[in-house]
Amino acid sequence: MKFFDLHCDTAYECRCVLSHDLKSGAHHLSLERGSYLDAWHQIFAIFMPDEQNGAMCRGDMAITHYEKVRDFIYRQEELYHDRFVICRDKESFEMSEKSGVCGAIISVEGGSACAGSLERIRKMYDDGVRLMTLTWNAENELACGVGADKKGGLTPFGREAVALMNEIGMAVDVSHLSDEGFWEVAEISKTPFVASHSCSRRLCPHRRNLTDDMFCEVSRCGGLVGINFSRGFLRENCEAKLSDILRHTEHFLSLGGEACVCMGSDFDGTDMPDGITGVESMGALYEEFLRINYPESLVNDIFWNNAHRYFSKHIFK
Ligand SMILES: [Zn+2]
Repeated sequence: MKFFDLHCDTAYECRCVLSHDLKSGAHHLSLERGSYLDAWHQIFAIFMPDEQNGAMCRGDMAITHYEKVRDFIYRQEELYHDRFVICRDKESFEMSEKSGVCGAIISVEGGSACAGSLERIRKMYDDGVRLMTLTWNAENELACGVGADKKGGLTPFGREAVALMNEIGMAVDVSHLSDEGFWEVAEISKTPFVASHSCSRRLCPHRRNLTDDMFCEVSRCGGLVGINFSRGFLRENCEAKLSDILRHTEHFLSLGGEACVCMGSDFDGTDMPDGITGVESMGALYEEFLRINYPESLVNDIFWNNAHRYFSKHIFK
C-alpha cells in the first residue's frame, strides 16, 4: 500500500524530547517500521512551541529552534539517504515514490518560525519547507491561533505571508488557526489551502476540529483535510478506537469530500486511539476500510491519491 501523511511531530520529538533519530525506536514513526510501505510520503513538521522555558518562543528564539529541528532533518538525510529523501522539487518527489524510500516533505507548524519577516519565509522555502501551519495555538506575528487570549484572524503581516506563500509555492495550512483566521484565508488564498491535521467538529466538538462549513470550503477550493488520529479530536471522552478514524472520514465523505479527505496522523504529537500504535498500523487501518466495503479506489484516494494530486499540482510542479 501507499501512504501519504500530512502531519507528524516526529522530528521535533526525536530532536528535542527523545534524543534519538528517525531510523528506529519506540516513537510512533520510524523509518524501519514504515519500510513495509510500497510508497511513503511523510510531512515532517518543525513544531514551533508557543513557549519555551517560561518565555514566549518568538523572534530570535523561534529562529534558533526552527534551525535546530531543520538541521536534525538534514542530518537524517545524510545518515539514511538510502531510505529517507527530502522532497525539494518534482524530481525528488517522484523519485522517492518510485524507489520506495520515505519521501519527506518539510513543514513548519507555527509561523513564528519566520519571526515576522517575509525574507525569512523565502529562506524557509530555500531550506526545503513546502507547507506552513500559520499558527500553533497562541497568537503570533501572522494570526491568532485557536487558543489565543483574544479573538481575531490574520494580521496585516499574516495576509502578506499568505500572498507570498501562494507566490512561491508553499502550502498554507489552517490547522490550529482561529475560526476567524480560517475564513480570512479562505477569502484571500489564491492557491487551495490545507487543514493538515483536523477532524470533524460535528462528531467531536473540539476547537481544533472543522465545522461542516469549513470542511466544505476546503473541499470546494480543491484543498486537503488530513484526519487527525488524536484521541481527543476523535471522541469527546477520548475513548477513541481505530474505527473512529473511519467515522470521521465517513462524515467528511458524506459532505462530498472524496477528493479532499486524506490522513494527517499527528504521530508523535498526540495520543493514538486503541488499535493504532504508529506507522506500522496503517496496513490494518487500510484493511479496515476495505473490510467495511469501501471501494479500493476510494481507499487509495484517501491514503495516497488526493494528497499526491495536490502536491503534484501546486507544490512540486
Ligand atoms: Zn498540531
